Amino acid sequence: MFRRLLACALLLAAGPAAAQQSIDSAYTATIRELTPTDSVWKFSTDLVDYLPASATVPTPLAALGYVPGTVGRLSHVGDINRYFKAVADASPRARLFSLGLSDEGREMILLAIADEATMGRLDEFRAMLGRLADPRGLSADERARLVRDAKPIYWLTGSIHSPETGSPEMLMELAYRLVVDESEYVRAIRNGVITLITPVLEVDGRDRVVDVYNLTKSLKLPRGGVNLIYWGKYTAHDNNRDGMVLSQTLTQNYIRGFLEWKPVVGHDLHESVPFLYTSTGTGPYNDEFDPIVIDEWHKLAYQEINELTRRGLPGVWTHGFYDGWAPNYVLAIANLHNSIGRFYETYTGSGADCHTVNLRSSQTDREWYRPNPPVNGVTWCLRSNINFQQSGVLVALRYVADNRQTFLENYAAKAERMVQRGRTTAPFAYVIPRGQRRAAEAADLVALFRMQGSEVHVASKDFTLTRKPGAKGDAAENQIAVREGDWIVRMDQPYTQTVRTLLAIQEYEPDDPRPYDDTGWTLDALRHVETIAIADRAVLDQPMTLLAEDAVVSGAVSGRGSTFLVPHLGDWRSAALPWKVGTASVEVADSAFTVAKRTYPAGTFVISDGPDGSARAAIERLGLEGVAVREPPDVPRHAITLPRIALMHTWRETQNEGWVRYALDRMEIPYASISDQELRAPGALDGFDVIVFPHVRGSVGSLLNGQPMVGPPIPWKRSDLTPHLGRIDETDDMRPGMGLEGAAALRGFVERGGLLLVEGASTQLPIDLGFTPTVSTTEARSLRAQGGVFRVQAVEAGSPILYGYERNTFPVYFSQSPLLTVQEADTSVSAREREAQMDPAMVSAIEAMRARVVLQFHERQDSLLVSGLLVGGNELTKKAAVVNAPLGEGHVVYFAIRPFWRWETQGSFALALNAIANWNALDP
Ligand SMILES: [Zn+2]
Repeated sequence: MFRRLLACALLLAAGPAAAQQSIDSAYTATIRELTPTDSVWKFSTDLVDYLPASATVPTPLAALGYVPGTVGRLSHVGDINRYFKAVADASPRARLFSLGLSDEGREMILLAIADEATMGRLDEFRAMLGRLADPRGLSADERARLVRDAKPIYWLTGSIHSPETGSPEMLMELAYRLVVDESEYVRAIRNGVITLITPVLEVDGRDRVVDVYNLTKSLKLPRGGVNLIYWGKYTAHDNNRDGMVLSQTLTQNYIRGFLEWKPVVGHDLHESVPFLYTSTGTGPYNDEFDPIVIDEWHKLAYQEINELTRRGLPGVWTHGFYDGWAPNYVLAIANLHNSIGRFYETYTGSGADCHTVNLRSSQTDREWYRPNPPVNGVTWCLRSNINFQQSGVLVALRYVADNRQTFLENYAAKAERMVQRGRTTAPFAYVIPRGQRRAAEAADLVALFRMQGSEVHVASKDFTLTRKPGAKGDAAENQIAVREGDWIVRMDQPYTQTVRTLLAIQEYEPDDPRPYDDTGWTLDALRHVETIAIADRAVLDQPMTLLAEDAVVSGAVSGRGSTFLVPHLGDWRSAALPWKVGTASVEVADSAFTVAKRTYPAGTFVISDGPDGSARAAIERLGLEGVAVREPPDVPRHAITLPRIALMHTWRETQNEGWVRYALDRMEIPYASISDQELRAPGALDGFDVIVFPHVRGSVGSLLNGQPMVGPPIPWKRSDLTPHLGRIDETDDMRPGMGLEGAAALRGFVERGGLLLVEGASTQLPIDLGFTPTVSTTEARSLRAQGGVFRVQAVEAGSPILYGYERNTFPVYFSQSPLLTVQEADTSVSAREREAQMDPAMVSAIEAMRARVVLQFHERQDSLLVSGLLVGGNELTKKAAVVNAPLGEGHVVYFAIRPFWRWETQGSFALALNAIANWNALDP
């Protein structure tokens, strides 16, 4: 009876064409059993409440043994990838591609789906989109033909955020449905668009989260009882904050795939707010998003809202979540490359479970942008998540298929507008001088632009441009001399938005909505690279050649002798030099000196090369400049003793430790990873000279205590149940923190001569434990400085931490806190009188304990902000940015700024590396 009714309903729902296609009745019945029912609301639609049968293509049930949405079942990456391969093997409507391997060797895949005729000419369709994506030299006739004949590519990507488990499960079923379903609805999609599916973007994290889900169940803990401490190898949630600098393997695989396929839409599937948020955002939108794409977000979102609301789904809405300002998300890559970047947030199925919805009123209130809000009291399951996402995606695919000419017109127009803008509006180009101080860092920026798909040229002759066309005054002052070899990014090309936004000054207005992420990211400022925006249109007619491979800056050693003088350039390559010179011995000049009429500043390396010539090779490889002399100069200097570095993480959060670990790995600085728990073991720190403890949130109490010691031990290690855990670090029990023993061990470590380097929120630990009584933090009252670029000033100019920094003020990244202060010496008359009665040795001993400010935020409020949001800047002026605090024989170095922020802040890498390299020479 049930079966027969079901079949009738399906015939109605799926339209006339379905009459020829039988349904998979067992699978369909399971979908319905897994979907919660309610007397008022629906949690499924006619688009997904059945599954068509196929004689050739295996269903997820047949291949994996369960229907996606089954409570307690999530697939590992190997099984997901095998399923997509099985679909591709079984159907001429699907083809599987590889996007490359992850950091840990798991494959990121892409399945292309369309009808047989389209798949037979897939390369041709790719080429058509490619031609529209770069309209230079395209005739009007050819353009019209392409807009008529091409097909939009729509790329769906699942689970970049590992705890958001539903999308890979949904995408397996969607792949089957798109390949097999003969309904008119799906046939129109197959005919009208080429769908690409990447079921999992963060493949390493996916395997771990499935293990964690299974472990949580086996320990009988509630959701979240086992913390997903590592997602990918380095980054957790921030794997979706890498769209600007493309540092992570995941993002690099994505951008390569993007530039190969040039999709019209990139759609990223997330899980958080109820029930289905389809992206538009509150604004302010990034300045570089084309007005057309902003319109397209809204068109697609409102189409989904309309179609899903009409089908009875509660809680499908848009607007009031996320701003659209920082372009560091994966979807921003699409939005900055003339495509449409969008995302869903679908309410979570809590791993693979059901629960009763119990939301705050702020999530269920009816708002202008949410007239059909989520509801409380209903049952929500992983299958609800799958039904909502899948229905929404089918609506979007169908809408793009039905309106493909409009979307293709827009796609072509956005690229044309970009080229046209570069021809008519300044800046017409950016010049990146090759002869600049930190040329190797500049070359990295050039490489980034190329990885982003932008063309970079090289000036093939010297030429001169006008700085301000039409300006009167000194002619020489109004000229820019471009040298042969300088890099030029022309703006009369289709992919310029990333370049523009990375080199622009961001102005986040105080009355804009509360920012969702960083407000300023001006990359040449953060990396201390010189770029010149060109307002002279004549640049486009100058002699230049297209750069065909990544720029490389080689260094050189001039002169004769086995002692090398290597000026520190204030970049990470200079600062890392002591680690790169093999058997050579490295000293650092503690003051300026002159050799052969050339003056070398303090911080210059004095290197005696080893027998294997490794120092010379390192100088050349790093793009540095060395001068060989016969005798070491007569200048006070100290030897570099490379420290044994411990990079410390907690078992609560590794997000920020991961970025620091990534930076150290990229720079090839050796270190040992330790956890804070290990401090409890006697002598745990005996083998180290430097401990780097990156930003971690939470109170000092929570750092000491860790998680409550109730319930069973929570292991993070490889086991039969959890084969993917324990690779980066492991423990038998994640709950304990460092304890008071660990805190005492840290203090003892510093007192015996070690360096403890803390940044961001981890500065609170040594302050609250009283390690350095003259350092304190203050709470912000009205300061709003979320994630931006700010100017700092050198205070202790002679500090080794500032070696190589040639300017007294420079830009750094900072976000809101901590506000560090160092107590100044009391210079009042009464204090001097007291001192006069003391033993002078005692006075100087007390003074030697006083922490010293190395860098401070700019003393003038109007000079503080470089890029981003700043309100209440008077609370930030003169606050300490870097502090060097003695304790016993050692030091605590505090960074209020974030020197290794998301592989964006290369300009401040050397501050941290200098502190580490000079760990035993930090006293004046
Ligand atoms: Zn997410």
